Amino acid sequence: MFEFIKDIAPNLFFILFLVFFHQYWSEKREWSRPIKQISVFLFGALSIILCMGFTIPTNNGMTFDLRYIPFIIGGLYGGPFVTIGLYILMFVLCLAIGGTVGFIITTTIATLIAILILSIHKQYQTWVASEKLSFTTTLGTYSALTVAVMTVLISPEAGMDQKNWIAYMAAYLVGTWISTKVIEDIRQYELLQRKLVRSEKLEAVSHLASSISHEVRNPLTTSRGFMQLLSEQEVPDHCKEYIKISIEEIDRAAEIIQDYLTFAKPSPEKVEILQTKDELKRAMDVMQPLANMNNVKVQSVLMEGSIKAERSRLQQCIVNLMKNAIEAMPNGGLLSVYSDVVNDKTVVIRIRDTGIGMDANQLSRLGEPYFSTKEIKGTGLGMMVVYRIIESMNGFIEVESEVGKGTCFTITLPLKKEVKEKVSLQSGVV
Ligand code: ADP
Ligand code: MG
Repeated sequence: MFEFIKDIAPNLFFILFLVFFHQYWSEKREWSRPIKQISVFLFGALSIILCMGFTIPTNNGMTFDLRYIPFIIGGLYGGPFVTIGLYILMFVLCLAIGGTVGFIITTTIATLIAILILSIHKQYQTWVASEKLSFTTTLGTYSALTVAVMTVLISPEAGMDQKNWIAYMAAYLVGTWISTKVIEDIRQYELLQRKLVRSEKLEAVSHLASSISHEVRNPLTTSRGFMQLLSEQEVPDHCKEYIKISIEEIDRAAEIIQDYLTFAKPSPEKVEILQTKDELKRAMDVMQPLANMNNVKVQSVLMEGSIKAERSRLQQCIVNLMKNAIEAMPNGGLLSVYSDVVNDKTVVIRIRDTGIGMDANQLSRLGEPYFSTKEIKGTGLGMMVVYRIIESMNGFIEVESEVGKGTCFTITLPLKKEVKEKVSLQSGVV
């Protein structure tokens, strides 16, 4: 048995080293999904090739290795394409190596594992680490057990003695357990790291907001007033243009400061009952010039629905979303605004664009302070404020986005019922 363990150790070493190296190396990188899949496939393929290259020979000509561990781990973490890719690789390698019994056993077990992974990999992503660990270790050990049973049934004389079979299964159990644990722990570590950075940034923003925003806003308002006065005087045309640009820039600075201020005081103050239809129309009017400039058509389907909110913040939130939507369509497109009451309980507002969209990484960073892909024009404050405002109104936001196709923001807010009844009563009387 010690001989067997000594033989199987390199297999285990390759797998664990590659799993660790890959996870550590890839987790820090902000890759798109296809690149991630390719990298999982390459590392999985390398592990399988090394396992099959360093097999453990038995006295009777059969060889054994830990090839199913990278297959299981790669398939579950990489998804269907990786599963199919690794499956084909194993099939080809088996054909190349030859041997009927080995071929039958490998294809049967690989097929069963592949079917299981394909049917379960989506749920797998939603499980907590302990559930994943139980699943991979059970699957790994069962795969080894099936190899043992099949070998004994098909070719009893080719097998190994009982102790070696136990060591073989134990290697699968340990291999799958450590691989999963390494992946999950590194993921958890990276997640915590990101959360820490995010919360530090949030703290810095909030500190900055409360300390300087007011002081900066007052001189800006004064300057804007004088610029306005100046533009009403007799001045040459080119000076008028300069003044116009200056006012626009001051307005932009004021907007940024407004975002900071909202962040510093997230709890609503002048709360009133608002009609989403009216508020959305108002925001659309504000955004119309920007839409025209970008060749964006604005369309809307708006139903009545009342919510409890502070007008200026709701406006800021919708305007920020619409602005992002328009900015995502530099070559024109369609901005659709929709609102309705759902289940007599919530008001749903949907802002959809046909713009550049976002990838998974951008989506996951949405709302993070200073996260912007807009080089000089962006501040990365808009979405942070949007999330903060909606949160303070006891609502939530869902985002769907596809690169090159567009983005849809769905805001769900609690419906203010009593008022809705009053309104319908009034209209009934009329
Ligand atoms: P900013 O607009 O100043 O860049 P935001 O917080 O408003 O900051 O948005 C952060 C980032 O989120 C943007 O830079 C952009 O990459 C992305 N984003 C937000 N909304 C959309 C959208 N509708 N379509 C595509 N990308 C978007
Ligand atoms: Mg923005």
